[in-house]
Amino acid sequence: MIRATTFTGRHVAVFGLGISGLPTVASLRAGGARVSAWDDNEKSRAAAVAAGVPVVDLQAADWSQFSSLILAPGVPLTHPIPHWTVAKARAAGVEIIGDIEIFARERAASAPSAPFIAITGTNGKSTTTALIAHLLRHLGCDVQMGGNIGTAALALEPPAAGRFHILELSSFQIDLTPTLLPTVGVLLNVTPDHIDRHGTVEAYAAVKERLIAGAEAKVVGIDDAIPRDAAERMGSSGALYPFTTGKGAAIVPRLYAIGTTLFVHEHHGTHASSTEIATLEQAATLRGRHNVQNALAALTAIRALQDRLDASGSAITVWRPGELAAGLLTFPGLPHRMEDVGSVGRIRYVNDSKATNADSTDKALAAFGRDIYWILGGKPKDGGIEELRGHFPGIARAYLIGAASDQFAGTLDGHVPYERSATLDAALIAATRDAGAHEGGMPVVLLSPACASYDQFRSFEHRGDEFRALVSKLPGYRPKAAP
Ligand code: ADP
Repeated sequence: MIRATTFTGRHVAVFGLGISGLPTVASLRAGGARVSAWDDNEKSRAAAVAAGVPVVDLQAADWSQFSSLILAPGVPLTHPIPHWTVAKARAAGVEIIGDIEIFARERAASAPSAPFIAITGTNGKSTTTALIAHLLRHLGCDVQMGGNIGTAALALEPPAAGRFHILELSSFQIDLTPTLLPTVGVLLNVTPDHIDRHGTVEAYAAVKERLIAGAEAKVVGIDDAIPRDAAERMGSSGALYPFTTGKGAAIVPRLYAIGTTLFVHEHHGTHASSTEIATLEQAATLRGRHNVQNALAALTAIRALQDRLDASGSAITVWRPGELAAGLLTFPGLPHRMEDVGSVGRIRYVNDSKATNADSTDKALAAFGRDIYWILGGKPKDGGIEELRGHFPGIARAYLIGAASDQFAGTLDGHVPYERSATLDAALIAATRDAGAHEGGMPVVLLSPACASYDQFRSFEHRGDEFRALVSKLPGYRPKAAP
């Protein structure tokens, strides 16, 4: 746990007692702050009381006594309307920050040169964060990974010389972190998202851009127009490390790809050269174009980190291309993102339950291309699966589950053979039967629902866990081979 020593002796309000809220309270108290914590949800309050947290009704509190409000990232700061705690804090002149700001202040106070990589983007944050952590661990580094993935930042071990903190940050978290200042900031990609929370695309893009603005080294994916414009505005400063999967770059990238082969472009005085550093051909957990982007982001971050380590006089070497290339092949991947869950005979089973919209499913269908027995459906999103029509020729058969069945049947009709399975277990049995009779090729049974899960499951994780459990009970099941 990280002790928040920069808040010693202060009285702090904490609102939102969920995943990051409880570690925040623990960190503040361990650092010697007085805490008044609250949540609108009665169950969360009861759980906090049971955990020994000082729960105080912030509605009735005297806000002049607080130095800061620590807000959970899911609580509206600006849109659709500021939460009532935000209004009270503003009226009393109390600063509003999040747990990542406490982390940043603690690092600045106790270990300002401790290597810290912060990652954000619209898609692929978790994969890239986990991949950077995996690669550094593969090199034998002391790595702490968390933030918006896995462990809350303040529940990690504290920053220290030679210890690498790798934090995934959502735009909500960046919004609450005025002094982030990472060693390396990674902006993967930006496409319109969460507009309900930020008001406009411009406001959303501006928050994302803030992560790299304050970074010592700025790693920017220039495939999308928004981060490309940001990179152009930053000019050709030595602190900028653009990367691209190869789509027409106006800016010279540091790393780029041709197909699944990754190259680094280096300047040596007036001379520049490109060197092949890795290929993803055999990287089972990094299939698809989007993972080329994620792998490039991870390697570019490590390349940038090396320059910062060198500049600070550190003797640590992390830019070891041969070992990094080998590390890409042993990345275990993340659950529910094109997760290989095993096989029965020639049939492979893939859990892509995290694909809660057509955009994500597009990536999975593109990665496999053909011989796909596709399980889809749930609570549909706007636009349904219209945008996936280009993949229909590669789908052997589709199995519809959940509330979207009628709508999706309408889109598939006449293009893809399908059946209405209604439930996940029935869909899996039918898909296994059909894939077992598949001739030629390598049939894959793919759960990539293009829908939210809430009509039949608690969450996408619950849906994916059910799928994995059902697959493991199939006759002849073999767990996936270790990568
Ligand atoms: P995030 O943490 O940003 O939600 P994840 O790494 O968990 O992203 O990936 C979630 C889904 O987003 C994946 O299953 C895949 O479909 C899609 N995805 C992953 N990386 C990218 C990327 N670089 N660009 C676009 N989509 C991606």
